[in-house]
Amino acid sequence: MVDDPATLGFTTRAIHVGQEPDPRTGAVIVPIYQTSTYAQDGVGGTREGDYEYSRTANPTRTALEEALAALEGGRNCLAFASGMAASDAVLRATLRPGDHLVLGNDVYGGTFRLIDKVLTHWGVTYSVAALSDVDEVRVALRPETKLVWCETPTNPLLGVADIAALADVARDGGARLVVDNTFATPYLQTPLALGADVVLHSTTKYLGGHSDVVGGAVVTDSAELREQLFFLRNAAGAVPGAFDAWLTLRGMKTLSVRMERHCDNAERVVEALRAHPKVAKVYYPGLAEHPGHDVAAKQMRRFGGMVSFDHVDGEEAALAAAARTRLFILAESLGGIESLIEHPGRMTHASVVGSLLQVPAQLLRLSVGIEDAADLVADLRQALDQR
Ligand SMILES: *Cc1c(COP(=O)(O)O)cnc(C)c1O
Repeated sequence: MVDDPATLGFTTRAIHVGQEPDPRTGAVIVPIYQTSTYAQDGVGGTREGDYEYSRTANPTRTALEEALAALEGGRNCLAFASGMAASDAVLRATLRPGDHLVLGNDVYGGTFRLIDKVLTHWGVTYSVAALSDVDEVRVALRPETKLVWCETPTNPLLGVADIAALADVARDGGARLVVDNTFATPYLQTPLALGADVVLHSTTKYLGGHSDVVGGAVVTDSAELREQLFFLRNAAGAVPGAFDAWLTLRGMKTLSVRMERHCDNAERVVEALRAHPKVAKVYYPGLAEHPGHDVAAKQMRRFGGMVSFDHVDGEEAALAAAARTRLFILAESLGGIESLIEHPGRMTHASVVGSLLQVPAQLLRLSVGIEDAADLVADLRQALDQR
């Protein structure tokens, strides 16, 4: 057994917690337990824990869950088939008809769609607030508010919310604080330590890190909430397969190394964009003039690999530049080793056009990968330079 995870460094936890060599064969890497069911010793007698059927539990998935819980500094983690499946489980485990939640005004578009187009049919109401403004959140709380749903940094505008301050406001209002930690990852920020009740991940992004698997996870210290989520996941069935859990775990082992490089490269890209005449504004919490910089510096180790910027010449010019990059691949998603570029207004955030969450038309979003920084900077320059 590894020592108490709390005494180990981040990368040691990522590589060892939940990942003992296989007791039978000594296999150093957790096997892909590609099985749907488990032999029982007598009726109802599982050989170990919940291993009766792989919707309920699977050892490869358990390894992923133990490792991610240790990275977030939480007691319990449950893995899901996608980030949205994880979000859906948190929403349905904690909200009942008549309940209300508060969400950020640039929440992930898919989360907004789930709440606005699905949850509202089940009698749940919501308000949108700028989470960077704690007073605005306090005013949005109602007696029936059960959740405050926070992302920080946000997507795609890289807004920053003060997690500790929001945790206080939520607690005073009798609500739970959920932090979607997909952008920051536990390497850069651990919301439970700052007072959040629930941490949510799209493991599709930095945790998996290689753009080859879709997944999600929820981490919480609450045993009660863990039981509700476990019941709901088993009842509804949104589980990841063993191979997907294995790929995610494999990616997580190198999270710290990748994040350092994502951050280094993002800083180089930010510097180059700021110097370019076709760039009107750069959104990055590492910039001293970013309105959330001080809060980000307080609660994050570094500022991450996501960068957004406004093109000087508007939407058409932004679309044209996004079509001209060669290394930055024009694609949705983020957090992989390869750099991506996208136009949020037409792509990831098309579902929020016309809503309170609409994003600027001239905005481009970069997921800065771990390639050589000089190549990335040269690629952006050639795409932005006038022809
Ligand atoms: C991608 C993403 C999600 C949704 O996760 P999926 O794995 O795509 O279902 C949720 N929140 C954020 C911040 C994301 O980037």
